[in-house]
Formats: sequence, structure tokens, C-alpha cells
Amino acid sequence: MQRPPDNYPRIFVGTGSCGLAAGADAVFEAAKRFVRGAGQDIHLIRTGCLGMCHREPVVEVLIPGRPRVIYGDVTADGVAELLGRHFSPVGPEAAGHTVGQRTADAESLPYPDILPIALHPFFAGQAPLLLARCGVVDPHSLVDYEASGGYSAIRRALGMHPKEVIARVRRSGLAGRGGGGMLTGDKWALAAAQRDTERYVIANGDEGDPGAFSDRTLMEGDPHAVIEGLMIAAYATGAHRGYIYTRAAYATALHRLEVAIAFCRKRGYLGEGIFGTGYDLNLHIRKGSGAYICGEETALIATLEGRGPMPEEKPPLPAVKGYLGHPTVVNNVETLVAVSHIVGTEDDALAALAAKTKLLSLSGAIARPGAVEVPMGTSLREVIFGIGGGVAGDRRFKAVLVGGPDGGFLPEHLLDTPVSFAALSRIGSTLGSGALVVVDDSTCMVALARYFEQFEADASCGKCTPCRVGTVRLVERLDRIIAGHATAAELDTLRDLCGVVREGSLCGLGRAAPNPVTSALRHFGDDFKAHLEGYCPTGACTTGEDAP
Ligand code: SF4
Repeated sequence: MQRPPDNYPRIFVGTGSCGLAAGADAVFEAAKRFVRGAGQDIHLIRTGCLGMCHREPVVEVLIPGRPRVIYGDVTADGVAELLGRHFSPVGPEAAGHTVGQRTADAESLPYPDILPIALHPFFAGQAPLLLARCGVVDPHSLVDYEASGGYSAIRRALGMHPKEVIARVRRSGLAGRGGGGMLTGDKWALAAAQRDTERYVIANGDEGDPGAFSDRTLMEGDPHAVIEGLMIAAYATGAHRGYIYTRAAYATALHRLEVAIAFCRKRGYLGEGIFGTGYDLNLHIRKGSGAYICGEETALIATLEGRGPMPEEKPPLPAVKGYLGHPTVVNNVETLVAVSHIVGTEDDALAALAAKTKLLSLSGAIARPGAVEVPMGTSLREVIFGIGGGVAGDRRFKAVLVGGPDGGFLPEHLLDTPVSFAALSRIGSTLGSGALVVVDDSTCMVALARYFEQFEADASCGKCTPCRVGTVRLVERLDRIIAGHATAAELDTLRDLCGVVREGSLCGLGRAAPNPVTSALRHFGDDFKAHLEGYCPTGACTTGEDAP
């Protein structure tokens, strides 16, 4: 497929899952009719999500020499009128609209949705590097990916000794983005050092944290970057087979990955002697059924082998003994996209930069939900109130759930904490998947803790008793508190039970399972106290005499 010259004007239509759910397919078709009628050379591109999930469908216009301009909440009926402000059609009609001569710069038109992208507050605090191609390249196009520098990193890696590639990743300081935080270079070195020469690599795209969608954004918007990162991991560790593992519910991501892999096979980028070298590599996609525990690497491997999703004791680490008993590197999707940036540059500073950004998924009671990328060290306050626009509507901020249920809730006075694995760990939280779910003051924290504890109980694989039974007992105790049937002494029992679950559980899920409860107790004790006194502070819970 030929790629139009770069001096063509471009129209980008975001077709990530969020855009498609909001009607982006119909907007794209209407834009296509406009382009046909415009009689000009315009490149219309179906992209992934630009990150602005809160304004989908999003349409962007880029005319060479002018700033990128973005429109939100675009409808199929209205897109021709918007595009007509940028392009004067030669033909009499465009998508049923007669569009007049443009008489002013688009940026100066009194249209509330129009804004040069660099000035938009949603983007002003961001540093898109891993997300840079999302919303810009056509995820179905290998040509588009390569035109934006894609597959130059693997070509570069193939010219290096695998040990040099590992050293490069080590030097960048890249730590796993899935939540574990192990240094990626160390994990690769461990696998590469094993005597067993049958090795595997796995891209973990099975994000299951409530509110997490940044991996999905990458897989939908830039699938080749995930594949390229996995290629580099495989070459560095001496693997000849790899898997991309994600949940079947991520249908759009799966389709785009399948298309991307098919193009790579056809072009000789996968298979025997990839990129004309003597190195063989095959990659395959595996669909999970969406169990939260499959994000844990040993449980993921168990399901790949056809067993139930139950974690194994570590050690041995999968890098020593993993898939089918062979050394296996499991890297998160975000980690692998960072790898392609790190290996693709000779510039150490740029490589370090790629290792020091973090993707965050903003959702809940926030004005501008979406997928964002910030430098590590940006404060949570800046992310939530600057990029995210603060709390939606006229409510007040109450809490934020960080890194899914495992990270627990943080109150307002801790929002100056930087986005960093170490800083969040110091205050008893975790960055984990990077999901940030904002909670407003209409929410009862006891009821919300109960909601997420139920999630933990449902997610427990059942292998060990403290997690399997303890999480259910936590939910039961929270029910008593919500109903106003508990005594003050039961809060101590609740805390003790949290300790038992944390100490007695085998894997990270069980050890972190009490965090919604412990963090709510620590920071929102007044909500618990109110329930002990027989009322709900927000009026949201049925409590006291009316409770069942
Ligand atoms: Fe399964 Fe929970 Fe035990 Fe982990 S802690 S192995 S999820 S029962």
C-alpha cells in the first residue's frame, strides 16, 4: 500500500474502542464522503485513540504549516460542516453539504470545540512518547508505522549482540510497567543466562484492574510497537517463539494485532530469517477469558499451558522456569513499547526518558477521562486537576483509587505525591497498572471499599484459604458496618482480618486484596464512624433500622 506524501493535509478519526462506542465508524464514513467530494488530495486516516476518551468521537485536522486542530463530540451529521471550515471543496457538494469558501483561519473561528492541540489543557501537562503514535498512525498499516520510524529499533537490535541489547535496556533503568517493577534488563539477563536454550517471550496485555485501559490503548492504536518490543525481547533473550496474551473482550485490539502480525509474516519480519538475518522468530496471539488473576505472570503461563489460572510459588521465577518448564520472559505491553523507544535510539538521554514516563488511565468522577502519559514525578494533583480537569460537575474531590483495588484509596492531602513506584509505595499504595479512578463527595467510602473487596473476592483463584475465604469474610463484615449493625470493636476485627489475608496469601493479588479496606479505614475513618452511629454520611447506603 502506498502512503500519501507528507505534504498532504490529513484528517484523523479516532477509532479506538472508546471512539467506536461513541459512533466513530459513522463519522469516518461521513468524512470519507466529504473527502471524495472535496476534490483535493487529503489523507483520511483511521487511527487509534488520541487519549481524549471524554470527547469521542474525536476528529483532528492537520494542514501542513498549521497547528493540529482537534474537534470533540463530532457527529456523522456534523463532520462535513466541520471539515468544510478547513477545505474548500471543488465539487458542488460534500456529503450533502454545500461548503463555502474558507474566509478565515480555522483557529480564529468562533467554534468552541476548536483548539490547537498543543494549547489544550488535556495535553499541556503530558509528555507523549509511548503514546505518540496513538491517534496519529493507522494501526492497520505497516507502511504508516515504518514511515514513523517503526521497525528501526529491531533492525538496530539485530545488528547488535543480544548482550548489548540487554545492556542497553539495563542502562536505561527501565522497570516493568505491569506493577511488579522488576528491572526489565535484569529479567532478560536472567532468562538469557539459563542453560536451557528453549526460551519464550510473552507480552502481557491482560490488564484487568478496574479503570485500567492504557495497554488496550497501545494495542489498538500502535499494535506494531507492541510487536516490535516483543521482537527485541525475544532476540535479546534468545527466544524463537513468543505470545501476545490479552483478553477476548479486547476485540478491536486483537483484530489489529492479528492484522499487524499477518503483515509482518508477509513482509518477512516474522518467520524464518527475520529482516533478512539468520534469526528465526514466530509470534502468536493468545486470548484469555478475562480472569483478573491472569495478569499475574505464573497464572498467565498456567492458562497458556491449558491449566486453570492459578499462580505458582516463586521462586523459581518464570525467567528461570516458565512456559512448559522453559525460561520465559513476561513483559507488560507498556514495557515493551518503551523497549522499542530505548533500543531504537543512540541517545542515552532519550532512552532514559522513555524509561521514565508512565501511562495512566483516568476514569471515574473526573472531568476529562482518558489515557495519558506523564513523566514520572508529576504529582497526582497535576494529573487529576491539570490534565484531567478536576472533578466532574459541581462535586468535590473525595478520593482517588490508584493502580486498581490493590493500590487502595488516597485522600486529597496526599495528592502532591509524585507518580512513581517508590513514592506511592512509601505511602502504602502502588502505581500498578496506572489506573486512577477519581471518587467525588457523593460516594460513601465504606460502600466503595465493599464494592472493590467484592471484586477481590470474585477474582481470587481459590488456591489458598486466607485469600479465598478471608476476602469473603471481609465483605460480610463490611455489609454489617454498612447496615449499621456493627460495633466499634468490629473495626478492630476487620483490621485483624485484613492482616491475616495479607500475611497468609500466596500471590500478590491476595496480599494486596485487603487494601481497599485498609486504605478506606486509614483515610476515611469518619465514614466508618458514621455507619457505626447508624447513618451513612452521604445518604447513599441503606443503614440503621431500614437496613436488611
Ligand atoms: Fe489464588 Fe488468592 Fe492464593 Fe493468589 S492469594 S493464589 S489469587 S487464592
